[in-house]
This record gives sequence, C-alpha cells and structure tokens, in this order.
Amino acid sequence: MFKKILIANRGEIACRVMETARSLGIKTVAIYSDADANAKHVALADEAFRIGPAPVAESYLRSDKIIDICRVSGAEAVHPGYGFLSENPDFVDALETAGITFIGPSASSIRAMGLKDAAKALMEEAGVPVVPGYHGDNHDPAFLKEQADQIGYPVLIKARAGGGGKGMRRVDDPADFADALQGAQREGEASFGDGRVLIEKYLTKPRHIEIQVFGDSHGNAVHLFERDCSLQRRHQKVIEEAPAPDMSEDMRRAMGEAAVKAAKAIDYAGAGTIEFIADVSEGLKSDRFYFMEMNTRLQVEHPVTELITGEDLVEWQLHVAAGGKLPKTQEQLSFSGWAFEARLYAEDAPKGFLPAIGTLEHLALPEHSARVDSGVRSGDEITPYYDPMIAKIIVHGPSREAALGQLLASLEATEVAGCVTNAGFLAALCRHDGFTAGDVDTGLIDRDLQSLIAEPEVPEDAVSLAALTALGLTRSASGDDPFDTLGGWRIWSASRQFALLEIAGERRDVEVQAQGQHRFAVHLPSGVRSYSLVDVTGNAIVFDCEGHRARAVVVKGKKGLTVFLGGHAFPVNLPDMLSADDDASGAGDQLIAPMPGLVKVLSAKAGDAVTKDQPLVILEAMKMEHTLKAPRDGVIGEVLATEGEQVTDGTVLLALAEENDAAA
Ligand code: ADP
Ligand code: ADP
Ligand code: MG
Repeated sequence: MFKKILIANRGEIACRVMETARSLGIKTVAIYSDADANAKHVALADEAFRIGPAPVAESYLRSDKIIDICRVSGAEAVHPGYGFLSENPDFVDALETAGITFIGPSASSIRAMGLKDAAKALMEEAGVPVVPGYHGDNHDPAFLKEQADQIGYPVLIKARAGGGGKGMRRVDDPADFADALQGAQREGEASFGDGRVLIEKYLTKPRHIEIQVFGDSHGNAVHLFERDCSLQRRHQKVIEEAPAPDMSEDMRRAMGEAAVKAAKAIDYAGAGTIEFIADVSEGLKSDRFYFMEMNTRLQVEHPVTELITGEDLVEWQLHVAAGGKLPKTQEQLSFSGWAFEARLYAEDAPKGFLPAIGTLEHLALPEHSARVDSGVRSGDEITPYYDPMIAKIIVHGPSREAALGQLLASLEATEVAGCVTNAGFLAALCRHDGFTAGDVDTGLIDRDLQSLIAEPEVPEDAVSLAALTALGLTRSASGDDPFDTLGGWRIWSASRQFALLEIAGERRDVEVQAQGQHRFAVHLPSGVRSYSLVDVTGNAIVFDCEGHRARAVVVKGKKGLTVFLGGHAFPVNLPDMLSADDDASGAGDQLIAPMPGLVKVLSAKAGDAVTKDQPLVILEAMKMEHTLKAPRDGVIGEVLATEGEQVTDGTVLLALAEENDAAA
C-alpha cells in the first residue's frame, strides 16, 4: 500500500478521500489555490502546497505543478477525485512518465469512454444495449438531419465530448433541428473544444439508473448494484438513491451483467459508473434499458452505494491502484436497506437556481442523523470560482420510507445562514407524493417545479422571534448575567418598542411590549400574542406562545437575521442595519451583477425602449449562464458594461432612465 498520496482536488471529495487514507495510515498531501488557503481540505491534510491563483486553469488543472509537488513531497500516487483532472488521459500519461501512480483507470480506458459516440460504438460491439440513434463519423448537417428524421422526433442532440449536462439540445420539431444542431455544436466547441455531436432518440419518460462497477489489474470486474439518479434538473442530479425503486431481481441482474461486460470490454481497473437510461413509459422492463455513457472515476453519489453495501469505495480504489485484487467477488457482495443522498448547494431555487456566494455565517449540518460529506465549515466562504456545493447529506434506513423520512428530518435540521441554499427545495422534494411513492422519472422536477420552489408562508412566531432578537430582548433571557436578566424587563417595561423588519420582501413594523421577566406582548396581524422565553442558549431559543412551546434558532449576520423554525429558514433583513449605500441603489432602475462573472451578451444600448422582464444581459458565472432581465418597462439610460468584460458582484451593468426622462 502507498505511504503517501496527493489529492488533486478540493472541497468535499478531497476531504472524503483523506478520511479513508488517514484510516489506512496513508499520509495525505493537499493542493490549494489562493481562494482555498484556509479551506477544510487543507486543514485535514498532513501537508499542503499552494498551486496557484483561484481560477481552475491556473490551479487545480495545472497537471505539471501537481507532478512537481508529488516529487517534492514524495507522494507515490495521485487521487483525482471527480471533475478537474479525473477523466483526463493526458494527465494519466504524464503521471506514468513521472513514475507516479494514478488512482484510477488506465489512460486507454479513459480514452475509450471519453467520447460518447465512440463509447457507444464500442458498447454496441460488446453486446451492450445502447440508446437508439446515430453515433457515426459523418457530421454533415444535412446527413445528421436525415438521421434525426429516421430516428423520429423528439431527438436529443448531444455534444460527444459533453459532460455535466452541458451541450445537449432536445428537438421536437424537424424545423428546429438545424438551429438546435448549431447550438449543441457551439456549446460543445466552447465548453469541451469539440463541436461534434451524436443524435439519440429522446425518451419521453426515462429513468436514470447507473451501475457502480469495479475492476482490478488482474482481469477481475464486479458491480456493486445500482443507483437511481432520476431526480434531475437541467440533466444534473439532485437526489440519488440506492437501490432503485421497483427494480426486479431480473432487471438488476441484466443491468449488472451488461455493466460488467462493458467494464471488461475496456480492461477496466478502478471505480467506474455505467450510466443507463431506462424507458419507463410502460414501467421498468428488463429489455428497455440502454447504455448512455461511462464515467471513469468515482462518482459524486458513490456514498449511497457505500451505505447499502457497507464497502468503502475509496479504500477499494487505493487497494486496486496499489496492485491488489478486488476485495470481494460478485457472490460475496450484497446490499441491505435503502440509502439517499441530497446535494446541498448554495443556490437560490426560487430565483431560477441562481448560484449564490457568500460567507457561511452559520452552518449546522445534521451530523447526528446523517452521514455528511462536506468541504466547508462555519465561517468559510462560498466563492464564485468553484462548484457551490455545501454538503452531501446521506442517509441509510431499513426501508425506503424510513430512509426518506430520515433524509427529510436531516434537511429540516440543516441550518445555513449567510448564503441561500436549496435546502427548502430538497425538503419539498422529500415531501413530493410521486417521489415518496417511488414513481420517479427525469421529468418529475420540471413538471412540479412551481410547487417545489414555492416559499413557505412566514409563521407569526418567526416574526415575533425576529422582532425580539432585533430589539435585543432575547439576550436578557440567557440568564448568565443576573443584572442583565433583571434589566431585561425593568428598562423596557414602561415603553413600547418597534422593530423594523423586512421579511419575504415585506416591511413590517412590529410593536413589542415587555410584560414581565422574559415575557413580551407582540402585536401581530392576527392580534396581540403573549410570548415567554423559556430558555436561551447561544442561538437557540425555547419559547412559549400561549401554551404552545417550541424551539427556534435565530442567527445574527451582516445584514440581518435568519430564523430557523419548523424545518424552514426565514431570512429577515433589518433595514436599520443596511448601509445607506444599499438603500440608495435604486435597485428598480439598475441591472446589477448578482455575482462575479463574465458579461457574455449585452443586448441593449442607451436609448433602447425595453419592457419588464426582457432579457438584457447574459452573465456567465460558476460554469452556467444567467439571464438578467429588465426590472421594469422603460428606456435604457446608460450602459456601463461591455461584452466580454469580467465584472465583480454588485457592478451596475446598465441603468434605466428616470421615469420622467423616459416619457420625454
Ligand atoms: P456525477 O454523476 O458524478 O454528478 P457529473 O458529470 O454531473 O457526474 O459531474 C461530476 C462533477 O464533475 C461535477 O460536480 C462537476 O464539478 C464536475 N464536472 C462535470 N463535468 C464537468 C465539466 N464539463 N467541466 C468541469 N467540471 C465538470
Ligand atoms: P452528461 O455527460 O452530461 O452526464 P449524459 O449522456 O449522461 O450526459 O446525460 C445526462 C442526462 O440527460 C441523463 O441522466 C438523462 O436525464 C438525460 N438524457 C440523456 N440522454 C437522454 C435520452 N436519449 N433521452 C432522454 N433523456 C436523456
Ligand atoms: Mg452522465
């Protein structure tokens, strides 16, 4: 076994790999960019080396520097995690030349599966069913159109080098084919440096079911059962589970055998995933699943497999890379119970899943009820440079129902302040009737998006606790200072106080009167309610409102408060705390970059008349495009940004003319 390895990654996966390495007595070397100098993965490692500035091209993708650091540190092997250099065969070649082991498959296996069209041709040859379509060498647009007509609409055009849900276009109408083809080619060229595409029959009710495979350098290959990743948004996974709902033993065997056949066809060594798409328009059928692609690396969602099988896949990876045989045969592998993983992201679901950045002013992850794989800690920052994942929340229970219940409870116990998250959206998914019934397909989220992102009504208790906290009245109940405790009501008893709050976009002036020690009357729309504070410990408040006792957590941040109550987070702005600057921004008249990014398209010039919600700017940030729309009807007064410009968050991109100017 290795004595020391380098982890060429960051965030949760770097931490995850280090944990197993440490348990095996292997020393770990981290690399970090300037943005990550104080990151968790750096703290966890035995040693760490700076690799460069924040942008990935200058840091985590610098294979030359990584190899230098291996030499300097004496690391014998490199674990690539996922993303970054994990599927880059040139990196594997370079490591080999330098005499360093890549903890992953051979460069030739990666090459064989690197392009979706070649991979499909290879799989067809090996007798693995593939999605019907065209994946040949003729890339003439007229020829591709003929192929699409023959396949029958809808079709899916895919960039053959694509990944992460990028470079795909669904075409329903033959008349749209030419435009969609150009779009997919352009995206493929821009994102992956390869504009060539393949065409597939678009399955209208599919499930994404993938098989975890493992091979060793002695010619053995096994599978570790399936994962269902059908809950997707924009072709990206949101919640994954294992096993797959309604999977028959027959179908499991058929898929497992096909996956092992695929792995053997390329002499695969290491961890890999064969992604299949199953046509479930008539239910799950063992002759209706097709190979989609192979990911030649550890997958983000590998923990669900670990929880149902009891195997540590990173340990398997290290063992196999060190030349060992697979720890178990197919017959020795089994699974039990049910596991789910939810990907907690810093993103604003109601605002079109806009990635968010900011400081994690408060972070409480449900470590007592779930396995939490996270690369950040309280106080850390979510930067615009990398994937905004906060944590993976993974649960295991005896049944699907029990595990899903645990997932929901864990999400409800998750507290993040300082950064918006998709926790509410994930919890709403856990309550979704179709999902709870196991009736999943890749269209589920889109079909019910509106209800899944609906924001919960703000309970009156949240308003009251925000008001009491804003007025400093919860401090007096902490009981550690007797004078403070006494003063809490004596000072205020005679007076009425008002807390100015902004909750769910609404300003509220909440009147509070002290009634006695730790007792307050709060004026709410439904009437005057009496609150008593039973216990305040740190951020946690136990309160009683007219005979109903409950617990909340109220966190103070830079701009205001976040109230965590009943499994929901309610951000509360305190307008008094906001700087005059913010107030004067006249948000309604300006288009402001919500995050640092690249101005890709700017489709307005001074003097243009625009209508509310008209798309004006496309900002590329965090690997995605974001459309910024006109805040109201009006005339463009001034354009302050240019196409191709890199802007910081808060930059005013353009301004509408004053209403009366516009009329003139
Ligand atoms: P998984 O099934 O493991 O989620 P994905 O293809 O969605 O597989 O990607 C896994 C990770 O790899 C993502 O979280 C992302 O960070 C990274 N990744 C995937 N595709 C790309 C890409 N084209 N460019 C950069 N990173 C990518
Ligand atoms: P990526 O490399 O971006 O992960 P995939 O080929 O794995 O690309 O496809 C990603 C997702 O797109 C799948 O999980 C599935 O939801 C959807 N998808 C892919 N191919 C098809 C198809 N032929 N019909 C319908 N949906 C598809
Ligand atoms: Mg995929």
